[in-house]
Amino acid sequence: MQATTKLIHSIPVDELTGAIAVPIYQTSTFEQEAPGVNKGFDYSRSNNPTRKTLENLVAELEHGEFGLAFASGLAAIDAVVKLLESGDEIVAVDDIYGGAFRLFEKVYKKFGINVTYVDTTKVEEVFNAITPKTKLIWLETPTNPTLKISDITAIAKLAKQQNILLCVDNTFATPVLQNPLDLGADIVVHSATKYLGGHSDVIAGVVVTKTKELGEQIKFYQNACGNILGPFDSFLLIRGIETLHLRVKEHSRNALAVATFLESHPAVDKVFYPGLKSHPQHELAAAQQKAFGGVVSFTLKNDTEEAAAAFVTSTSLFKLAESLGGVKSLLCHPAQMTHKSIPADKRRANGVNDSLIRLSVGLEDANDLINDLKQTFETLENQNSKLKNQKTAA
Ligand SMILES: *Cc1c(COP(=O)(O)O)cnc(C)c1O
Repeated sequence: MQATTKLIHSIPVDELTGAIAVPIYQTSTFEQEAPGVNKGFDYSRSNNPTRKTLENLVAELEHGEFGLAFASGLAAIDAVVKLLESGDEIVAVDDIYGGAFRLFEKVYKKFGINVTYVDTTKVEEVFNAITPKTKLIWLETPTNPTLKISDITAIAKLAKQQNILLCVDNTFATPVLQNPLDLGADIVVHSATKYLGGHSDVIAGVVVTKTKELGEQIKFYQNACGNILGPFDSFLLIRGIETLHLRVKEHSRNALAVATFLESHPAVDKVFYPGLKSHPQHELAAAQQKAFGGVVSFTLKNDTEEAAAAFVTSTSLFKLAESLGGVKSLLCHPAQMTHKSIPADKRRANGVNDSLIRLSVGLEDANDLINDLKQTFETLENQNSKLKNQKTAA
């Protein structure tokens, strides 16, 4: 059976009523026949039928043994870090999601967990950063917003040799394009807010583990700390995941068309998209992923914050907003938005130039999206030449 068919039918029909769609069990507690005797559910923080369906579904999606759903992507990341103890160390990708960086540096550091950030596109840099205290390697591939690709198989081998857990944040690739557990990772996390949800209407996170034991350890923290996903949001996520395969294919197709257009435009300096031959890890991406995803970043020849700000406020279909992975196309200016808290020189060293613009390519028609970008370049070009004329006239 094909993955799509299996996925759709792994969402069970409701046993009690035959309902085809998953019922929203909006209940905090469950009647017990005798103290401790119940139908598998006693209190919704510990277990809820709607959340359970979602958790089984994401485990299936990521080819893991155990799935867990959390109130946000960061709550999912937080639950994984709780496996560590004071004195343990993490080796993490340098181009890490800003919120994960803040969690590591502002929360876990004060509990004695230290993180070393390295360029994980170079396996030897990961190797060199490992110490006897390293308990976890943290990857994102592709990264945000420069779409760097790391070799999951090679790093998993390294981690296994040294008895270190490997966790991959698979938000950008999605399980449709990449399954890190099959490549040797122990844990996968997602900001389900992005492609899994897919409709810009829910904040959620998931964790999937390769083994049941590891899943049960993290489930202990899910219940003990309580940052679970509610039944209604679990329902929305299941509904999103039902069309994940279709959406991700189309996002990838549209993004490749947009990236190809941008690469040919004279006002554009660099395009970051793993599907382009010009991407430094294109071959690795082609081997590791089924397609290249829906996020495209680019820089302008006029590499200034002002030029990027003018661009992101002049498009009409691409809406200026944080986040990604939804039906509607979005764009953002990391230097002034998602990466504002990172010092400018550190940000630039990671390839996030002042003019870098990140696109979340949605599900509109690709030609309409390209025309929107084309018109924006033209409008800005006209404004610039008018300004120049005024200056020469004066
Ligand atoms: C958005 C995002 C997160 C955080 O997820 P939230 O759902 O916003 O808490 C983590 N990792 C990546 C790669 C993200 O894009």
